[in-house]
Amino acid sequence: MKILNADVLIIGTGVAGLYCALNLDKNLDVVMLSKKSLEECNTYLAQGGIAVRVNEYDYDAFFMDTMKAGMYLNNKESVKVLVNESRESILDLDRLGVPFNKNMGEFEYTKEGAHVKNRIVHCNDKSGKLVFETLYEHVKNLENIRIVENTTMFDIEKRDGKCLGVYCLSEKETIYIGSKATVLASGGIGGIFKNSTNQSCLTGDAMALAKNHGIKLDTPGYIQYHPTALYLEKREDKRRFLISESLRGEGALLFNSRGERFVKELLPRNTVTSAILEELEKTNSDCVYLDITHTGEEYLKRRFPKIYSECLKHGINIATDRIPVTPSQHYHMGGIGVDLHSRTSMDYLYAVGECSCTGVHGGNRLASNSLLEGLVFSKRAAEDINAVIGENNKIFEPLLRYSVKEGKKLVTDNRNKAIEIIGNMRKDLKNELVDSR
Ligand SMILES: Cc1cc2nc3c(=O)[nH]c(=O)nc-3n(C[C@H](O)[C@H](O)[C@H](O)COP(=O)(O)OP(=O)(O)OC[C@H]3O[C@@H](n4cnc5c(N)ncnc54)[C@H](O)[C@@H]3O)c2cc1C
Repeated sequence: MKILNADVLIIGTGVAGLYCALNLDKNLDVVMLSKKSLEECNTYLAQGGIAVRVNEYDYDAFFMDTMKAGMYLNNKESVKVLVNESRESILDLDRLGVPFNKNMGEFEYTKEGAHVKNRIVHCNDKSGKLVFETLYEHVKNLENIRIVENTTMFDIEKRDGKCLGVYCLSEKETIYIGSKATVLASGGIGGIFKNSTNQSCLTGDAMALAKNHGIKLDTPGYIQYHPTALYLEKREDKRRFLISESLRGEGALLFNSRGERFVKELLPRNTVTSAILEELEKTNSDCVYLDITHTGEEYLKRRFPKIYSECLKHGINIATDRIPVTPSQHYHMGGIGVDLHSRTSMDYLYAVGECSCTGVHGGNRLASNSLLEGLVFSKRAAEDINAVIGENNKIFEPLLRYSVKEGKKLVTDNRNKAIEIIGNMRKDLKNELVDSR
């Protein structure tokens, strides 16, 4: 078994992992893991954009929109932090070079469901990809950060209630990485669903591990279904392509198979999803239709280039055709319980981004609040680590639990055991979160 050590270990290279890394002290030695290639994260797929407090007068409205969408099940203190620190995060991304759409030097805000006003900054419909690429460009230039791709964390090492590091499996070997602080930034759970807009490699691994080690979880059953994923009768990919909420923000309307409207398009996601499911049942249909043909083709090509070209690949011209859509698993509001500094219930173990539960989203996430949560709370995790890491100045020798005795020989690279553990983790989570619904 290969052994590595780091001051800080970050599991995940999406928005939460990358922004955490950028905010750590530059004298800390940081290792980051990505399960597959770097692009295979949900951050890369985000289309719509990032919600932000537009100005000082927008605090109450943004706070209330988040609470209302979340069915008032949100943690108010976390929502306060999110709204208060949103502008600083977006200005920082702007300084780092994210090419947000602008008009005369000012952000061009768009609207999405359940926001009372335009407050979403975006890079056309490739917001996540461009945020990812910008953050990665900065991280890769830092000498204190090493990124290890195609490597899956499958267990945590702990002693006296402290996290000491993790075990992982690469294509070649099992690896133990010891660290003074460990940050779980491993994203959502869509990979365990049959229909999901998520990358299929995201299977809730951190949550499964947290559960096995008695680390506190928070509302794991809070799962969001997006109302409008592209419906294709035949599809090659398990992943469903998302038709962003910002189309409805720009006036797209929903029709049932009889050509009738049946819901106000900009209600919160869970309400629109329920209305669609009811309509599918009533009309005995497989999909409903989203119509954005009132805008011109040139505008659509410019504003929604990704959606325009993806639909065209399947013979749908969104400038002239209605888009067939159905709901699909999209986001996990619940997850590993954390405090306002992203600390889990295990010492020196943090969780940020979609795998964590700050309570910001309550029972239903407000559109475009996820990338924002990843930014605000991963920076808070980094600040906490910078402040406390000096107290934990030791990297302990690992117990090497994945060693086995073969005759008299100690075999430390127990790959089969690791694969079995990963399989079981997935099965348990699937039974709990998918089959029971
Ligand atoms: C199609 C789509 C569109 C979206 N649009 C928007 C939007 O417009 N605005 C918005 O705010 N939100 C949007 N979201 C949600 C948002 O993109 C995600 O919630 C957010 O990007 C999650 O970021 P993250 O850093 O937590 O995780 P991710 O970006 O998903 O990254 C997870 C990382 O963890 C790694 N990982 C996972 N498991 C392991 C393991 N066992 N070992 C090692 N590494 C592991 C992965 O390799 C990856 O690097 C969208 C989501 C989807 C799917």
